[in-house]
Amino acid sequence: MEQTSSNPSGPAFAHQCGDCMLCCKLFELDELAKPRGKWCQHATAGKGCSIHADRPSACRTFFCNWIMDGSLGPEWKPNKAKFIIQTVAGGNIQILVDPANPSAWRAEAYYPTLKLVAAQLFERGRHVIVSIGTKGYVILPQKDVPIPQLPTLGAIRIEPAIIDGKPDFRVIVDDSAAQQA
Ligand code: SF4
Ligand code: SF4
Repeated sequence: MEQTSSNPSGPAFAHQCGDCMLCCKLFELDELAKPRGKWCQHATAGKGCSIHADRPSACRTFFCNWIMDGSLGPEWKPNKAKFIIQTVAGGNIQILVDPANPSAWRAEAYYPTLKLVAAQLFERGRHVIVSIGTKGYVILPQKDVPIPQLPTLGAIRIEPAIIDGKPDFRVIVDDSAAQQA
């Protein structure tokens, strides 16, 4: 097996990283001064992490949802889907999209399922948040709400609101900026 990019997916996991290295591109990594959305300097195409034994703890401890969830088929493997799914603060689901394929999450293979999950989470006050660089969307049952600046996923919440005289929702970002839903 090829050396994995982040984790030596053991028997406790539903899947193995195999040839996927997408988290080595999409996440920022302070220890290596690696920016979000840029390949790590230690990521080697076809071979994995060149410092695997000494990789930062953040790399050792990250497990995307595809790794852990056996109900997600091979089409959801991050390097195939072009996005990473992870559970974040508040029980929200983040869809971290490869900026090179910003519309990947809207593909027919994924979007209907994401919409369904968003509707289920919405009932529990949680949300599916699409992150594309520093911008993104909150997927609501009724519509997808663009978020121009997405600095802190944990700071996002949805509040009921009356907009133009109709019941609607307002997306609150970082306690200071509000986007009309
Ligand atoms: S995104 Fe998931 S499957 Fe891909 S390398 Fe990272 S942990 Fe493994
Ligand atoms: S150090 Fe290795 S595991 Fe961590 S992001 Fe870089 S290539 Fe990936």
